Amino acid sequence: MRIGEIDVTPFSDGFFSMPPAYFGESADWEPHKALLNDSGNLIVPIGCFIVRTGGQTVLVDAGLGDLDLGEMGKGGALPAELAAAGVTPDEIDVVVCTHLHLDHSGWLVKDGAPFFPNATVRFGAADWDQFVVDQHGGPQTAVDIKLLADLGRVETIDGDDVSIAPGITARAAPGHTHGHNVLVLSSGEERAMLLGDAVTCPVQLEEPDWSAMSDIDAALARRTREALWRELEGTDTTAVAAHFPGLEFGRVLPGKGKRYFSV
Ligand SMILES: [Zn+2]
Repeated sequence: MRIGEIDVTPFSDGFFSMPPAYFGESADWEPHKALLNDSGNLIVPIGCFIVRTGGQTVLVDAGLGDLDLGEMGKGGALPAELAAAGVTPDEIDVVVCTHLHLDHSGWLVKDGAPFFPNATVRFGAADWDQFVVDQHGGPQTAVDIKLLADLGRVETIDGDDVSIAPGITARAAPGHTHGHNVLVLSSGEERAMLLGDAVTCPVQLEEPDWSAMSDIDAALARRTREALWRELEGTDTTAVAAHFPGLEFGRVLPGKGKRYFSV
C-alpha cells in the first residue's frame, strides 16, 4: 500500500478468536453471521504495520508475542513474517504502539532485552500511567516497559497531533485505553489512517452501539469512533484498524442511514 511517498506493509502476529458476546451480550449477529466461522466466532488478525517514510522504518504495533492462548488465539508469527519480507529487527527506528494492550506490545521485549534493539518506543503518555503505574495490563507489561524506559528507549506521546516520523502523526483517540492513539499518514495529496483498536471490527460501522469488551471507557470509545467515522465518511482517506479482516485499507461510505466499510 502506498500513500504518496509512504510505503505501508501489513503483518499479522497471529489471530484472535472472539466470541460474539465480545461486542456485548445484546449484540444481534444475525445480519452479520457471514463474518463468523463455523463455531460462531469472529476470527481476526493481530495486525502490525511496517511504515517506510523519509528514510525511516516505523513499526506500528508490536503484536502479541510468543503467546498461545489456546482457542482464544495465538501470537508469535511476527518475527518470521518480517524476516520473510526482508525486514530485520535492528532496522526498525521507531516502534509506535497505538496502546499498550498485550496484543500491541508483545514483541517489545523478548528474553529480558529489547527485541528491536535500535528502536525508540512510543505510546500515549496516559498509557504509561494506566499500564506501567497502575499495571492495568498485568505485571509483565509494566516490567517490560520499565526496562525499555531504563534503557532510554521510551518516549511517550504527550498531547495531540505529535509527529512520529516524516508524514506520520499520532493523534489522541482515547476510550479503548486512556492513551490510545491513531496514526495519520500523509504524503502529498494522499492520506490514510491506522486506527489501532479505536475500532475493533468494521461491523461497528453498521452497529455503532456495539462496544468491544476490551474498551476501557466504552462511552468515550464510542464518541471517538463516531468522530473518526464522521471525518472519514465519503472522503478519499483510507483506513484500517489492527484487527480488520485481511488488514486491508478501505474507505468509509455513507448509505441508507448507515455507514459502510469498503475495501
Ligand atoms: Zn488489539
